Amino acid sequence: MTTRFPLRIEPLPGEWWRSYLQRVAARYRVHPFAVLERVYGIDRPERRHLRWSGIVMSDAAVAHSARVVNLAPDEIRAMHLKLLDGSALDFTGRDLDEFNPAASLSATRLHLRHVGPLVHAATDRVCPSCVEGSPLYRATSWRLQVHLVCTRHRLPLSHHLEAAADTEIDDEVCAAQQTVLDRLSPTAENAAFFKDLYAQLGPYLKRPAPSLDQALTVSTEPTLESFREAVHRALAYGYPHYQGFDGWPFARAASHLRPPHEVVIHDNRSVRCFPHLLPMHLFAPGLSDLLHRAQIRPARAIGAAGAAMCVGARSLSQSLELFPPGRRNTTARLVMTHLLNLEREGCAEQFWQLCASAALQLLKENVDYRQREQVCDRDQTYDVATSAEPSAYPRTVRTWLVDQWACTYTSSNVRPSVRDGSIEHFDRLYGPGMRAALNAHLRECAA
Ligand SMILES: [Zn+2]
Repeated sequence: MTTRFPLRIEPLPGEWWRSYLQRVAARYRVHPFAVLERVYGIDRPERRHLRWSGIVMSDAAVAHSARVVNLAPDEIRAMHLKLLDGSALDFTGRDLDEFNPAASLSATRLHLRHVGPLVHAATDRVCPSCVEGSPLYRATSWRLQVHLVCTRHRLPLSHHLEAAADTEIDDEVCAAQQTVLDRLSPTAENAAFFKDLYAQLGPYLKRPAPSLDQALTVSTEPTLESFREAVHRALAYGYPHYQGFDGWPFARAASHLRPPHEVVIHDNRSVRCFPHLLPMHLFAPGLSDLLHRAQIRPARAIGAAGAAMCVGARSLSQSLELFPPGRRNTTARLVMTHLLNLEREGCAEQFWQLCASAALQLLKENVDYRQREQVCDRDQTYDVATSAEPSAYPRTVRTWLVDQWACTYTSSNVRPSVRDGSIEHFDRLYGPGMRAALNAHLRECAA
């Protein structure tokens, strides 16, 4: 059963495991089942063993197969779809044995569509030019529904060899396809890209609509045009109107809205210390003008969410994890509504630039706003502030501590007793003195 094959047959570039097995069988002039028998060490291979090949194998099965076909285990792993786990596919939470052709197979169907949009297991698509010299060759990436065009030969992948040959693919479609293929290595950024792309391609990827590869065979040009547009939209970070989020539910749009600029953190500082409301000195210069339609507090929350998004290029919903749970939906709605307006007015780019520079400044100042939030309503904190500025109106000091110093939402027992605008005036009068005293106080507490 475990007899090795005499030759080492070189895998072709990007080759898929099932195609490799077929080529090995052809080379030795045996039925593919005879190869499966040896490679998987099983008695009675069936059609489904072949059909389930090329998804994922256990390490033990890989080691066994590698010995039989004289390849290194990594060469075998490189031919499996599991290699795309963390970019175009997501095997998280799947029982990998479910896909392992060498394991005893359950009679149930493969639940492959749960890992990502794949071409139906029984269907093959090819680039006529790629298979010219070796008709059994199939690339692993051809299994992906979002691989529609061979960028090398500028031909659509097709179920029928003749059908594709006379279709000309334009530069933009090729570039879009190349963008997708360039992002197949598993990284957080690439996973996010595919998540956004699949959201843009939604109508094609949802059943009972024909899948993307089926749509391509029916109407090639419109399908390729939709694909190109989806790739462009998925990459238009920070422009929700262009990305088509206007009509999406807020929560769904929030999980796809990303900033166009990334602020990279070089040390152990983190957005976890960021304020819920942007501090006035970072809000006042540009964002207050830009967000003039909103009240000051909601506008500061929009700025704070925008700044948090820029750090590490997080989606809006990721950055809202920083906010109190009760505020997340409201803030998502605020950000989305106002950003859509700004984009229609041509000001989205300016918004993101201001958010990115606010984020840089917050990281530089390195104030722990979570710590301030915890102590802002303590009597001791209040005493330090009022001793520093005895002439400040005491009730306003309580509001100031929450709103201007800790930059968070007023709790139920501290209500803003002043209209928007007055607290900022109050801050100009007494803020500097109280800040200095409170900073000294926090340093003493920490020591
Ligand atoms: Zn080709």
